[in-house]
This record gives sequence, structure tokens and C-alpha cells, in this order.
Amino acid sequence: MSQRRYLLDEGSVPTRWYNVAADLPSLPPPPLHPGTGQPVGPDDLAPIFPMSLIEQEVSTERWIPIPDPVREVYAMWRPTPLHRAVGLERALGTPCRIFYKYEGVSPAGSHKPNTSVAQAYYNREEGVRRLSTETGAGQWGSALAFACTHFGIECKVYMVRASYDSKPYRRSMIHTWGGEVVASPSPDTAAGRAILAETPDSTGSLGMAISEAVEDAATRDDTNYSLGSVLNHVLLHQTVVGQEAREQLAQAGAEPDVIIGCVGGGSNFAGLVFPFLADAAAGRPLRIIAAEPAACPTLTRGHYGYDFGDTAGMTPLLAMHTLGRGFVPAAIHSGGLRYHGMAPLVSHLVETGIVEARAYQQRECFAEAVRFARAEGIIPGPEPSHAIRAVVEEVERAREEGVERTILFNLSGHGNFDMAAYDAYLSGEMIDYELPQEELDAAAADLEGLPALP
Ligand SMILES: *Cc1c(COP(=O)(O)O)cnc(C)c1O
Repeated sequence: MSQRRYLLDEGSVPTRWYNVAADLPSLPPPPLHPGTGQPVGPDDLAPIFPMSLIEQEVSTERWIPIPDPVREVYAMWRPTPLHRAVGLERALGTPCRIFYKYEGVSPAGSHKPNTSVAQAYYNREEGVRRLSTETGAGQWGSALAFACTHFGIECKVYMVRASYDSKPYRRSMIHTWGGEVVASPSPDTAAGRAILAETPDSTGSLGMAISEAVEDAATRDDTNYSLGSVLNHVLLHQTVVGQEAREQLAQAGAEPDVIIGCVGGGSNFAGLVFPFLADAAAGRPLRIIAAEPAACPTLTRGHYGYDFGDTAGMTPLLAMHTLGRGFVPAAIHSGGLRYHGMAPLVSHLVETGIVEARAYQQRECFAEAVRFARAEGIIPGPEPSHAIRAVVEEVERAREEGVERTILFNLSGHGNFDMAAYDAYLSGEMIDYELPQEELDAAAADLEGLPALP
């Protein structure tokens, strides 16, 4: 098959993904078919996903082998470093030990290639020649373009209009890797044209862009759809992060008391956290915290029930925390956290009390991102700045309680393409958004008439 292009030191890159579904005391309610309201079967998903990913989506096998061609690409940047944040510890004057897993060393600058590479590989293996997808801030679109060019398939990206206009360099990355990108809502799909007819100056949303990308895949024989978060198989692929972190921490002689990640659709959080859940189940006291923006407070203020993954209502109904599929979040700088829904597995862990959720304003997050950049060197993406905010809150809490804790968090990506956001913060122009309850109630009206959870 493929020749070994990267030095694959056996043992250094994980050989398998960890499937948390094998170990959870209970599973989230199943996805439902939007037409029949019955659980979706493999045949319902086959028009837009390859069978190997559909199998992973429903699998309850604990370990799933990572194909060698995928591991070879991972070896370009994996294992990623686990850093002890000595600079940040010093800046905070804390005896707590803070560790972070740094996923910004991937070619696209985030954790997202962990799944884009796997998805492009499986699609190519099943003869698919083109992938369509959506992207919010552009991280996912660029990660998929990178993976597609590696495996020699085409990539079409529907990019949320607000980011398309404000993040031109993410577009340039997609072009450089040979992908095609249009602003969403676009005139290229019926879903996009319908939105434009009603709201010609729409700034778009992930839900709208997903509708467009799903329609693209469903109406073309040569094209499948690819999603960068939320679904079980995406979270599965991200578990290389937590597996490596667990081993690296053991080498450092440390065990975490608190694990923290930011959540948009839930994938980088799940990737870090899931491999540690067995430790928690075995009785180790472990607190797990999901950090989200106050302007898009899916877990902390959203409704838990069945909802569509997209705006037009074409995807299966997922059991998740949701702000309603019509929700258009404020134009905060964490483009990657502006999604109305949440991974069903992450929602389920919050519902069952295994995971705590917290929401933060963007200015307090950027304040911590700047402190982090000065202490640690790396400029964090706006998304993981929410995780850093939560870390600092935990440090304060440990100080009040008079204890020393070991805190681990996921630095899911760097912020080198987000300097406009840093400029806005540093010049004092950045503003906070407190989502009014009326807006939440209005968005929740979209949920009326949808099936209830069992
Ligand atoms: C996309 C993205 C996120 C949010 O997505 P999740 O699926 O919740 O991880 C967070 N951080 C970075 C750097 C991202 O690119």
C-alpha cells in the first residue's frame, strides 16, 4: 500500500482509538430519522458517510485499530507535546501543577486533523472522490483541505459568512491545500438560496453551513459529507489526545485531579477527557470541566432534547443540549465555539453529572490568553482561552481551599490566525455579550413538535 513516508516509531503514535461507549454505564438516546422519528440505521446514513465511519458511529467495541496510513500522517506531528505550564504557575503564584496538551503543532494548527485525516482516508478507501463540509472559524475547513490533498480527493468548504469575511488567511490555507471555499449562505445550494432570499445579508451560522454541505453531498454521487465535531466517530478519532496525555503524565509521575477543555461541538474536550474516564469510574476523585462562551451557552443554558444538527432540518435528530437550530450566535471571536448543539456523548455526561459545564465572557478569556502568551510563549486560539479561564478559576478555588491540585487542560490550537481578535482585545474594543433570555426562549421555539427524549 502506501509507502512509509514519515518515520513511524512504533509505539510513539497510538495504535488504536478508545471508544468510550464500551465503558459508559448508560448510552445517550439514539439519533432519530427526521422523517420517521425512528432510530436511524446504517442505510439512512450511507448516502453521505462511508460504511466504515457509520460502523464506528454505532460501535461499542472498546478499542478500534488506527489504520497504518492514518498513523503515518499522524506521525507528521504526533505525539503532540505535553507541557508543564511552569511559566503560568509562576505568574499565578500557585503551588498547583498545571499541565497542557498542545494540539497546535499540527499542520492546520489545531486538534482537527486528528479526525480529518481519518475521515479522508476512509472515504478514499470506499471510492469517494470529493468531500463537502462546513466550517465556522475556518479551522475545520483547513484541516479537511489538508487531509483531502494528502489522500488525493477534492474538498468543498461552506464557510460561515462572518468568518469568511473576517478570517481571510484561513481561506488562503484552504486554497493552498487545494480546496474550494465559498461563503455560506451561498447561491450554490437550495438551502443557501432559500436563506439568502429571506436574509440577503445573513452573516451565516454553522447550522446553515451544515445544511448546505449535507445537501451538496446528498445530491452528488461522487461526494460524501464530513463533520468536524459532534458525532461519535469524530470524538473517537480525537482520543489519541487523551491516550498520549495519560502516558505522558504517568512518565512525569503526575495524575490529574481536574481536567478541563473548551467545548464547541465537544470533540477536543472528549478527545482529552474520555481516556481518563475509566480512572474516575475506578474511584479516583476527578473533576471534569467543560468551558463554553457565555454568548453561546449550549451546555449551561441550553435545552436537553432532540434537535437537528443543522438549520434546514436535514440531519438526523440528535439527543443533545441545544440552543435551537435557528440560533445565530453573536459574532464573538471564538468562531469554533459558536454551534447551537453539542456532541450527544458530552451532553449525556453533563446530564449524568460526570462533567461540569461553565460559561465565560470573551474578555475574561482573552485576559487569560494574554497572560498565558506572556508566561508560556504560545498564543492560544480564542477557543481554548475558555479552558485557560477555567484553569485559573480552579487555581483560585484550590487556593481558597488550601490544597494543591494537578490540573490538565487541552490547548486545542494556536491563535496565530486570530490576531485581529487579540488587537480588538488589546485596544479595548472587544465587548462582552450576555445572551438575553428572550433570545434563548425564541430559539427554543424551534424545538416545538420534535420528538421527546425517551
Ligand atoms: C474547532 C475548534 C474548537 C471547538 O470544537 P470542538 O469540537 O468542541 O473541539 C476548539 N478549539 C479549536 C482550536 C478549534 O479549532
